Amino acid sequence: EEEGKREMIVLYPSPGMGHLVPMVELGKLFLLHGLDVTIIILDPPYNTGSTASFIAGASVANPAISFHRFSPIALIPPASSSPHTEAHAFDLLRLSNPSLVSFLRSAAPRALVVDMLCCFALDVAAELGLPCYLFFTSAAAALATFLYLPTLHAAAEKSFRELGRAPVLVPGNPPIPADHMPLPMLDRDDDAYKGFLYISTRYPDTHGIIINTFDALEPRALETIAAGHCIAHGRATPPLYPVGPLITSDVGREKIGRADCFTWLDAQPRDSVVFLCFGSLGLFTAVQLKEIASGLERSGQRFLWVVRGPPSDDPAKRLERPPEPDVDALLPEGFLERTRGRGLVVKSWAPQAEVLRHGAVGGFVTHLGWNSVLEAIVAGVPMLGWPLYAGQRMNKVFLVEEMKLAAAVDGYEGEVVPSEEIESKVRWLMESEGGQELRERTAAMKGRAAEALREGGTSHVALLKVVSKWKCMAIE
Ligand code: UDP
Repeated sequence: EEEGKREMIVLYPSPGMGHLVPMVELGKLFLLHGLDVTIIILDPPYNTGSTASFIAGASVANPAISFHRFSPIALIPPASSSPHTEAHAFDLLRLSNPSLVSFLRSAAPRALVVDMLCCFALDVAAELGLPCYLFFTSAAAALATFLYLPTLHAAAEKSFRELGRAPVLVPGNPPIPADHMPLPMLDRDDDAYKGFLYISTRYPDTHGIIINTFDALEPRALETIAAGHCIAHGRATPPLYPVGPLITSDVGREKIGRADCFTWLDAQPRDSVVFLCFGSLGLFTAVQLKEIASGLERSGQRFLWVVRGPPSDDPAKRLERPPEPDVDALLPEGFLERTRGRGLVVKSWAPQAEVLRHGAVGGFVTHLGWNSVLEAIVAGVPMLGWPLYAGQRMNKVFLVEEMKLAAAVDGYEGEVVPSEEIESKVRWLMESEGGQELRERTAAMKGRAAEALREGGTSHVALLKVVSKWKCMAIE
């Protein structure tokens, strides 16, 4: 190879904000460390949050990164009857392998980095003799669970759903009630479950696992994985590289509501506002929206609330993006007038990471998606968890039982969380001694996160390790 040639790394994220956001950040770090970066973009025919506008913003903000778009694949008729988006994502990823082969042949990168759902690409990498790394965009505790899934599967005959509250025991983790396992994994006959079982069986085939967490946040899970305790059948655990927290720095990517919400936040006292935002896909029923509104109103707290319309009753429309909400019709009569000045409702989307960093924000009601968790920690904002979809119930167990960095609303497994519960937990978060303790613990972890990322910190060193593997010309 010629001297001075920059090695190129291809990053392959699965569709969905939670996967794309950290992958773009990882790409930026590789670039800073002298690697060339191409990010593959899939064009899914279903709602993945606001990925289209995010990608548009990210490509303008990062001209040195190439974005390579695969031609769209129509999943019509749907290959799977599963109600879970993840099952459709697995189909899309499987069907994208031919595009991946031809792209990688012509691009000839030094390595391929795939997202946690993209393990179908491992066959392609093997065929081309390309080292393939996993980028795990969730908690180390979740990685431990996935690595252990084949063992759990072999040991049980029932679906997690049928096991109810029975504890699922994963080395290095607190017990997880079976019905708190990721929602698409609750039924073992579902295609989504089968997809997860397949990908987790393939994790040990990767050359290394880069993970968006840091040593001080999840010491027990990281040590247990590294010691090989989560993998059965004598397979070796790939080297682990905890490089986090990687959170988005592409500020102001969404113009809608931006000016409004920051002008308003600027006028609020320090740590006084509770911010409610539920990931890229979180939706509530009309009944639940009204309960949240009256809970907030009665709590007396200042709030900034991102409101979306309820999910469609039509199953055919469930995978589509909901239309802009009609907040006057959705929220209780007079709510917006009565809370004017004290509260602000933003429609559909807010620049969450930037809002969390604003000094006026003092509490965060969140679905506990992993990126949201990291953004809250980096901003030092205490969390009140309200898990909704994907792996968020499991994250709730990790955040509450293990990391002790969140409280949770009661009743999220049921139909509706009543306004009284919302009122009392929001008051607890913003006004009580317990809430203040949580704020202090979160602030301390914010400090540990900054240490990890600093020159010589654990995450910085882990990043240098993986980058130097690619930059030196030794054959692995
Ligand atoms: N996000 C945002 N504004 C919103 C909702 C979400 O900026 O109104 C961002 C959020 O900051 C995070 C990502 O979208 O970076 C969501 O990722 P997460 O892992 O928290 O949840 P997911 O959407 O994957 O469930």
